[in-house]
Amino acid sequence: MALHPVRLPRSAVHLFRVVALQRRLLKALADPALNPNTVNTAWVQSVWSRLDPEWVRKFCLGGQEGRIQSIAQASPVARQALYEEFCRQHHVPAMLEAGGDFKDLGDLPDFTVELKEAVTEFLGRCYKLFSDNAGRRWNGYELNSSRSITNRAYKDDFCSDYPTKVVCPYCDGEIGTPELDHYLYKSGFPLLACSPWNLIPVCGSCNDVVTGKGSRPAITLGPPRSTDNWLHPFARPASDEVTIRLTGAPQNSIPQLHSLDAAEQIRLSNHTDLIRSLSRRWTRIAAASFDVLVAEVNRNQTAANSLDSLVRMKLEDHLGSRRKAGSSMVHAAVCQAVLDRRPQYLDEFTAPNAPALA
Ligand SMILES: [Zn+2]
Repeated sequence: MALHPVRLPRSAVHLFRVVALQRRLLKALADPALNPNTVNTAWVQSVWSRLDPEWVRKFCLGGQEGRIQSIAQASPVARQALYEEFCRQHHVPAMLEAGGDFKDLGDLPDFTVELKEAVTEFLGRCYKLFSDNAGRRWNGYELNSSRSITNRAYKDDFCSDYPTKVVCPYCDGEIGTPELDHYLYKSGFPLLACSPWNLIPVCGSCNDVVTGKGSRPAITLGPPRSTDNWLHPFARPASDEVTIRLTGAPQNSIPQLHSLDAAEQIRLSNHTDLIRSLSRRWTRIAAASFDVLVAEVNRNQTAANSLDSLVRMKLEDHLGSRRKAGSSMVHAAVCQAVLDRRPQYLDEFTAPNAPALA
C-alpha cells in the first residue's frame, strides 16, 4: 500500500547482508545431521566464521543463544520448512508478483507454538539490533567495520531523494521525522523483519499504533495470504491517474481516493481503511487549504485574473508538485472542488467577477 513509489536506498545492501547472515544460520540449522546439543555460541561463531567472534558472542546474549537452540531442537522437517519458507519469502518482488501467499509460521509442517515463538523472537531481536540507534548495532557484523548500518543512517539514506525526502508514501503528507514501518507487520511476518523490501519510511501519524497503520495487515489474510487487493510501495504504488475527490462542505469534507480502474479502486479503498486517521487528517488539511485558497484568490482576483483562471493555476502547481510537496493531492482536490462548483465551495469567494452558480 502506498500512494507513492519508493526505491531501495543504496545502504539496503547492508540489510541484504544481514538477511544473508540469517539465511546462512537457518541453513546450518536445517542440516538433518545437526546434533542440537552442539549448538551454542561457539557453534554460531563457526557458522558466521567471517564475523568478529566477539561481536557474535554479544549477539548471542539476551536470549538469542537459547532461541537458536530451540530451533535446533525442532524436527528436521520443521527446520527444513523454516529455511525453505525464509528463502521463498525473501524473493519479495516475485512473491508480490505472484499474489503473495506468505505462509504463517504456524502453518509450516511440524511447527509448534513454542517454535513459532522462538523464531519470531529471534528474528525480532535481529531487527532490534538494527533499530537501536545508540546502543548495540549491526556495526561490526563484518570484520570490515565500514560495513555497518543503523536505523537512523538507513532512514537518512532512504529520505535523501523524492518522494520520501519530503512526502510520506502512505498519506502524501509531510514526512517530518520519518519512522520505519514494516509493510507486512513483523509479529505476523517475522521472516521479513529485516528485509529491505519490507521497510518503508513513513510519517509518525501513519506509523502510530493506535491511529495509524500500526500492526495492521496490509494484506488479505488467508490462506492464501493475498496481496492482490493491496498497493505496495515498491511493487504496486498508486498510478499517476489516482486523485483525491472531496464531497461535503469545505470545512468538513469527505476525501476519497479515486481511480478509473476498478481493481485499483479496491486497492485504494483498502489503503484508506488501513490507516485509521487518514480521512480525518485529509479533512483537516482540506479545510485549511480551502481557507488559504479563498484568501489568495480574493486578494488577487481582477478582471484579467478570474477566479477560475487563478484556481486553475493553483491546481496546475499542485499537480506539478506531486511527490515533491506535502499534501499536494489534497490541495489539488480542493482546487478541483471549486472548479467543479461543488456545493458551498464558491460561497466565500467575494470578488466581483465570481461566476454565478449554475
Ligand atoms: Zn503518512
